[in-house]
Amino acid sequence: MGEKEKQHNKNKIVLRIIGIVLLIAGVTCAIFGFIDMSKAFQESRMPKIWLMFIGFPMIAIGMFMTVVSFQRSINRFIKNENVPVINEMGREISPALSSMANSVKSGLDQTVCSQCGELNDKDAMFCKSCGKPLMRVCDDCGEANESDAKFCKKCGKPLN
Ligand SMILES: [Zn+2]
Ligand SMILES: [Zn+2]
Repeated sequence: MGEKEKQHNKNKIVLRIIGIVLLIAGVTCAIFGFIDMSKAFQESRMPKIWLMFIGFPMIAIGMFMTVVSFQRSINRFIKNENVPVINEMGREISPALSSMANSVKSGLDQTVCSQCGELNDKDAMFCKSCGKPLMRVCDDCGEANESDAKFCKKCGKPLN
């Protein structure tokens, strides 16, 4: 991860933390404002309307910042198909999400058999369900190529 990326991630996390803090503070203000309003009504005095005035914009700004901070990660994931970003997000949110990200990642590490649809390990040579060859081993260099490859990806020799 480069310096710029680190800084970007740091900004993102700061944005998220400020957003969540604002959100909590805003909700607290709004709740206190609401409680005070009903109290003020009973005691026939002026309610502390300013609590609401501060509370609601804080909720709005907090929500916006939180959403933006998450959206950046989502956009980046869609653009780069960057699974580690999900992992990183998962660590920040909860271990449950992290394990979900891991299962997505292990799903990507598997090869689907074109004949029967069985999920096989990425480096499997034959389908464990129907025995169809999943790889073509190059006679020349021994490199394992995809079963539909015409030429060796390592040495360029035609595969038979
Ligand atoms: Zn199969
Ligand atoms: Zn080869």
